[in-house]
Order: sequence, then C-alpha cells, then structure tokens
Amino acid sequence: MSLKIKKGDSVIVNKGKDKGKTGKVLKVILSNSRLIVEGVNIAKKHMRKRSEQQPSGILETPQPLHISNVSLFCSTCKKGVRFSVKVLEDKTKIRLCKKCQNTL
Ligand SMILES: [Zn+2]
Repeated sequence: MSLKIKKGDSVIVNKGKDKGKTGKVLKVILSNSRLIVEGVNIAKKHMRKRSEQQPSGILETPQPLHISNVSLFCSTCKKGVRFSVKVLEDKTKIRLCKKCQNTL
C-alpha cells in the first residue's frame, strides 16, 4: 500500500474485542506496524495512592493494535472502507473512498 494510515485518521476496528469501535489514530508505530487508537484496546491499570495530589484510581491507556486490524473510517458511508490513492498535479496524494469517492 502506497499510503498507509496516518496519525489523525479516523479508523474502525475489524477484529478482536473492540470490533466495530471507531477512533482517531493517536500514534503510528512504524517499526512494528501498530497503531494507538483513541478509546480502543484500553488497558486498565490500578494506581495506588501516592499522595494527596495523586489519588488512587484506574488509569486507562490505549494499547497498540496491528494496522491490519483496522480500516479507514468513511464519515459519509459510516463504515470502514477501502480507498484508492490519487496523485494530484502538484504531487499531493489524496485518498478517496472507493464507495462514495469522498476524500478521506
Ligand atoms: Zn465513503
């Protein structure tokens, strides 16, 4: 694929316990093709009370998931879609939804 999912993209999860969830890509980990997606694959960590300023509680952090488990989310189609890449005259690459031709 010439243009992969980038930070800030909206994606939908295709596999696993969070299947069907959508979120924004917070981070792309290129070394192992994983993504951190807002609100997806949350790991809860219990924090012990350390001080009055840091009370105990549950810290929720999204864990990375493999890029193959998500697809780009099209806000027009309201689902995960395949996309095509179009190169504009000024060499800018844009991604188009294969269904509705919207820019993703
Ligand atoms: Zn679409």
